[in-house]
Amino acid sequence: MTGTHELVIADLRAEVEDREILKGVSFTVRSGEVHAIMGPNGSGKSTLSHVLMGRAGYRVTGGSVSLDGVEMLGLAPHERARAGLFLAMQYPIEVPGVSIADVVSASGAGAVAGLGAADLTPALRAEADRVGLDGALVERSLNVDFSGGEKKRNETVQLAMLRPRFAILDEIDSGLDVDALEQVSQRVEDATSEWGLGVIAVTHYNRLLERLHADVVHIFADGAIRESGGPELATELESSGYARRSAGSTES
Ligand code: ADP
Ligand code: MG
Repeated sequence: MTGTHELVIADLRAEVEDREILKGVSFTVRSGEVHAIMGPNGSGKSTLSHVLMGRAGYRVTGGSVSLDGVEMLGLAPHERARAGLFLAMQYPIEVPGVSIADVVSASGAGAVAGLGAADLTPALRAEADRVGLDGALVERSLNVDFSGGEKKRNETVQLAMLRPRFAILDEIDSGLDVDALEQVSQRVEDATSEWGLGVIAVTHYNRLLERLHADVVHIFADGAIRESGGPELATELESSGYARRSAGSTES
């Protein structure tokens, strides 16, 4: 364990193309906790993920995101990564000419710091094996010609190698078959105890949470958290849907 860390998101507001998408998002994640974010399409969940990581194209208009008291807003994405944030994107990007092994050895983060070059490949292969990813893929160009499931497994391998303090998983379950879903969700759950990973998991499905146990479930609608509760909230949602709870939200 590396001690307890805290990611505090306070009244976060952001615009895309002059339209306010995040309308005051507040919640706090601590080491080892899993926060699930569930909400309708177009409500701003991916926008939240990108704004937390500092992707270009989003204009933050208010609030703060601090990790152990250090303000993340204003830092470049690689600086946020160095501070301990990791984002598994809903649609992972293809990076021709760069392999997962390159990414991991260039990062110098977490567990990797303790690994010499000779140990890196075996460690990568072991992590790939843990989520059922063909070991040969870790040396191929990142996500190029990967299937949807391979991309999500690959993101999980990066997460496991980089050992961030906090991971934002944007629909890491999409495109995964049942077996892969079990492996990926178990790997992330294990990480919460292995090194105290704190998780923000955006998902539509309670199924992810069968192994990745949520401490808190947030219902996100129209750019903000509208309701928070325990894991039972995810089960309820599955039967009731969002409509009954998030009156006033607009689906796009
Ligand atoms: P969710 O992930 O909850 O489905 P998104 O965050 O992807 O929602 O989208 C929220 C809203 O912001 C949508 O109306 C979407 O069209 C808009 N949006 C998000 N990113 C962009 C962008 N880069 N350019 C224009 N509009 C965007
Ligand atoms: Mg999304």
